[in-house]
Amino acid sequence: MEKRLFAELGLSPESLKAVDKMGFEEASPIQSATIPVALTGRDLIGQSSTGSGKTAAFALPAIEKTDPHLRAVQVLILCPTRELAVQVAEEVAKLSFFKRGLHAVPIFGGQSYERQYRALAAGAQIVIGTPGRVMDHMERGTLKLDKLRVAILDEADRMLDMGFRDDIDRILSASPKERQTLFFSATMPREIQQLINKHSKDPELIKIESVAQNAPQVDQVYYEVERRSKIEVLTRLIDLNDFRYGIIFCSTKIMVDELDEHLHSRGYATDRLHGDITQMQRTRVMEKFRRRGFEFLVATDVAARGLDVDDLEVVFNYDLPNDGEDYTHRIGRTGRAGKSGRAITFVAGRELYKLQSMVRYAKIKIRRENVPSLDQVEEARENVFFEKLRSTLDAGEFFKQDRMIDRLLEQGYPSTDIASALIHLLINGDKSAEKSFAAPVAKDVPSFVAAKMTPPAAPARAKDWSDEDAPRAVPQRQRTKKKYDAPARTGREAGMVQLQMNVGRKHLVTPADVVGKIAGVTRLPGNVVGAIDIHENHLFVDVAQDSAELVLEKLNGIRIKGELLKVTKAEPQG
Ligand code: ADP
Ligand code: MG
Repeated sequence: MEKRLFAELGLSPESLKAVDKMGFEEASPIQSATIPVALTGRDLIGQSSTGSGKTAAFALPAIEKTDPHLRAVQVLILCPTRELAVQVAEEVAKLSFFKRGLHAVPIFGGQSYERQYRALAAGAQIVIGTPGRVMDHMERGTLKLDKLRVAILDEADRMLDMGFRDDIDRILSASPKERQTLFFSATMPREIQQLINKHSKDPELIKIESVAQNAPQVDQVYYEVERRSKIEVLTRLIDLNDFRYGIIFCSTKIMVDELDEHLHSRGYATDRLHGDITQMQRTRVMEKFRRRGFEFLVATDVAARGLDVDDLEVVFNYDLPNDGEDYTHRIGRTGRAGKSGRAITFVAGRELYKLQSMVRYAKIKIRRENVPSLDQVEEARENVFFEKLRSTLDAGEFFKQDRMIDRLLEQGYPSTDIASALIHLLINGDKSAEKSFAAPVAKDVPSFVAAKMTPPAAPARAKDWSDEDAPRAVPQRQRTKKKYDAPARTGREAGMVQLQMNVGRKHLVTPADVVGKIAGVTRLPGNVVGAIDIHENHLFVDVAQDSAELVLEKLNGIRIKGELLKVTKAEPQG
């Protein structure tokens, strides 16, 4: 599949300028192959997949063949639908931008004859129309083909599918024999061959084996969604599937701005592209997106067109594209490079009919799915977490936390409860973070555990808790690490204070009694208790400075071995 520069194809300076203005850098394979042939005047059949640039492939030579000074129809382009006729007319207008005096007009059913007649009467040289309406104008005498130089059939296969065979036959039969005929189609069924045999002279067949035809699988689904629920459903689907890299297509610039802001405020890493964004900014956004500097690009079709990323996990059609071609073009950005991609389309209200017609004409394979419930999203989140946990365990990618775990086990907490509590803290991280803002130490959670496990209080997206790379988590980790680094084992441990109790050997109190009471009453881990020095009538016990107040408060007045406890801070010893 050879690509050439437009400048090598034999086009006029005006056309080259127009192509450049449209931002095309080089000719696509079908353009490279057909334009030089078409310029020689030979009939041809161009076959290539959707989105391969067939429009410019026939429009550029057609424009070159048109005499702007002659006010008569010289080029007729037949298209299957009004949408396509309008689109092709727009492309022709752009490609002929620097050809002064050249006018193109789309004619299609549903628009008043009056308006179309005026454009024709004003001397349009290029007519782009659906076969039915073209026939109508011919029969009314408002469209004359006696000066026709080039007849083009765009999407010939679809026109036949739609039953335009007879109309096409009659239109071509009514036009001058010496005209040039160009057939363009994505497929070449036998019927087209018959049409070609009848209406062209020794045509050259130019077939481009397309990427799209052996395109990898794109899993396509659609959801019927009320307009106002779209954002909710979108975020659910992102969370449910744990998507991290994709484009979300909207139909307007305003929608792009709105959605980008909404997603951003919900904690998704997004950026946007549309026509009002400066070229410099655009380049920056595209660059960043290619580097995966953010997760989701919110964009209009036009803005995303120059973006050459193709390894997206997902393409969302937040708004339905204009037609099957745009649809195929959009979803072609996912699932390349041998990976399977996902395309998710939202359909609101009457858009369902539009989708159905796209499915019919563009042979799209798409299935309907129900909007996932919140429960399903929860379940999926759980599964994602489960998998992460398991792979962390399998890979052994964690620091051993024996000290902390031993403390808990020592106090008789079953290991399954310990693990459950940790998972609870991780999953409900956001909530405990808010709580711990109000009361720095969560009530029944040891302070260092809370500090360790509590993610930042920022309105983080629900799944951020499991994101190992989240930069925000780093200071947390470092800060807490210090706290349970092994303190010096000699003498009084750093950060400990000594308390005195009014019980001793006489009362048959053992160290285990002391630790057990402190831990049991305060719910602090046993290891906040350090050295215990038991005398005949009293004892000294070291406790973590942080916990001293709590121990004093909770243990004063309770009984140990039947004795009413009095706990005080020990006098500093010389
Ligand atoms: P087809 O008719 O083969 O399905 P189109 O002519 O509709 O494809 O082109 C698909 C898209 O590619 C259009 O948006 C068109 O503007 C764009 N395009 C066409 N040729 C080029 C090119 N040489 N460089 C960049 N974009 C192009
Ligand atoms: Mg086309």
